[in-house]
Amino acid sequence: ARPIVAIVGRPNVGKSTIFNRIIGDRLAIVEDKPGVTRDRIYGIGEWMGTSFSVIDTGGIEIDGADEMLKSIRMQAELAIEEADAIVFMVDGKAGLTGSDSEVAQMLYRAKKPVILAVNKVDNLKRQDDIYEFYTLGFGDPIGISGSHGIGIGDLLEAVVTNL
Ligand code: GDP
Ligand code: MG
Repeated sequence: ARPIVAIVGRPNVGKSTIFNRIIGDRLAIVEDKPGVTRDRIYGIGEWMGTSFSVIDTGGIEIDGADEMLKSIRMQAELAIEEADAIVFMVDGKAGLTGSDSEVAQMLYRAKKPVILAVNKVDNLKRQDDIYEFYTLGFGDPIGISGSHGIGIGDLLEAVVTNL
C-alpha cells in the first residue's frame, strides 16, 4: 500500500487547490462509507519515483456539527490516525490565526512528521510572510502558491523525504 499524506489546515488556506496540484487527474477513490460521517477523497501523488496517497481533509463533513472548530479537530484526528506524513497548511496572506494555533496544538501530539506549508506566497515580495509561522514550532515553513504553482516541488521533496 502507498504511504498516506494528509493535508490539514483551517478552511480557505488553499488545501483543495494544493491537493489538485499534487494529484493532477489521479483522483483514486471517493469513499463514502454509510454510517460514517465523513467522506474521504484520495488522490495519488508522485515525486521523484515515490508514489503516495493524498487526503484533502477539508472534504470532511460532519453531520449536525459543522462548526469550524469541530471540523478542524476531526481533520486533525484523522490525519494523526491515518497519515504517514502531515502537510499542515496555513495562509501567508492572512497571517497566523487562532485556528492555526488550534490545529498546531493537535498536531504536536502526532508522532508523525509534520511539514508546514505557507500558501499564498504568490511572489518574491510575499516571501517575508512565512517567518511568523516559525513560532508554530514545526521547523522551516515552506512558502508555496497553489494558484501560481510556486514551491510545489519543494513541498513534495520535503514530503517524500519524510515518508
Ligand atoms: P481550502 O478551504 O483550504 O480547501 O481552500 P481552497 O483551495 O478552496 O482555496 C481557498 C481560496 O484561496 C480560493 O479562493 C482559492 O482560489 C484561493 N487560493 C488558493 N491558493 C492560493 C494561492 O496560492 N494564492 C492566492 N492568492 N489564493 C489562493
Ligand atoms: Mg477545500
